[in-house]
Parts: sequence; structure tokens; C-alpha cells
Amino acid sequence: MMKTLRNEENSLEEVAALAEESNGLPSSTVASPLTPLSHSLAEIVNQGKLVSDEIIINLLSKRLEAEEAKGQSGFILDGFPRTIRQAEILEGVMDIDLVVNLKLREEALLAKCLGRRICSECGGNYNVACIDIKGGDGSPELYMAPLLPPPHCASKLITRSDDTEEVVKERLRVYNEMSRPVEEFYHSRGKLLEFDLPGGIPESWPKLLRALNLDNHEYTTSAAA
Ligand SMILES: [Zn+2]
Repeated sequence: MMKTLRNEENSLEEVAALAEESNGLPSSTVASPLTPLSHSLAEIVNQGKLVSDEIIINLLSKRLEAEEAKGQSGFILDGFPRTIRQAEILEGVMDIDLVVNLKLREEALLAKCLGRRICSECGGNYNVACIDIKGGDGSPELYMAPLLPPPHCASKLITRSDDTEEVVKERLRVYNEMSRPVEEFYHSRGKLLEFDLPGGIPESWPKLLRALNLDNHEYTTSAAA
């Protein structure tokens, strides 16, 4: 997971609002509620055209200009850039202050992927994996609670056909291969913050805020609850 953050001085509220909007660009933007940016992307995708890096970044920079005009002073990109080429184009268009590399041990990633379940009736997403790795030998402990379904979904759970160990390991291999040069790109510019996830959102959120010097913000406690 690669997150890009500009301007650490922003209020967390602004950051969170933009993070929500830019979440998962480019792929999930297409499926999310239609904003001007996702609308343009959706049009391109619906026409069967490949969304090129230039188009994505062009649309993104227009969107960010519009947000800036409305008084927003920063943004978070979630999962973008994914390739060294995207990072290079992005650098030519806008200043990125900080890149946060959220890291999770591969055994936990694998367990979480294999624990994914979907309700065949309502489409709800759950995760039956409970990750509880004890610390020791220099490695910290890791706890991630399962996301269990409510009783009315419990008997209708299915597994995605591509959530197999073989497929997930291959996805991780491809991701590592692609992301390493991107990490190196930002590391060489002194902009990479490596963050080892200590667990799920309740465990990770306060520590992440502390790492970003945002931990005295009033939203800290409510968001972590
Ligand atoms: Zn259900």
C-alpha cells in the first residue's frame, strides 16, 4: 500500500475528506459515487479505452486544482502512483511532501486475503481470519481482529474464486516487483516513511497519527474508537 500525502499541516478532517474522495484511484474511483474525476474515468473505461497514466494524472491535477481553488491545501492519494512511470509523471505535475508505505507481514497479508468472505445474498464483505502473532526476536506482536458477519449472512458466505494461496502469492509477487522501484524513487528523495502496521485499524490508527505528528488532533480518539 502506498499513500501519498502533501502538506502535513493540514487538518486531519481535510485530509480524511480528500482521502475518501481519492481513495483507490484509479480503479475504485470508477466504481465510487460519481465525482467529476471518476465520471471522466468511467467514460473512458466504458468506451473500452485503456486509461493511460497521462490521462489519469491530467484528470487528477485538474481535480486537485479545483480543490485548491475551494480552499483545500492538501490531499492524500491512496494506492497511487503504483509504477515508477506514474511516479515520474506525477513529480512533474505536483509536489508530493511525503509517501507513507504501510507494511504488513506477508503471512498476515496472506491470511487476510484467504480469510475474505462475501455474503452471496447481500454482497457484504467479511473476514474470518483472526491474526494473532506473538512478538519476540525483535519482531513486534501483530493483532488483527476478524470482521465477522451478522447471523443472517453467516450461512451464505462464499469465497472469491481467486482468493487462493497460489493467486494471492502471485499478486504479492507482482506487487512487490512493481512497488519496490516506486519505494526507492521516493526513498532517494528523502520522502518515504516506512510504517509497519501493528494490526488492524484500531491498533494502527493512533500510531500512524503519531508517526505523522497528527496525534494531538481532536479527531484522534473518535476515529480510533
Ligand atoms: Zn448478507
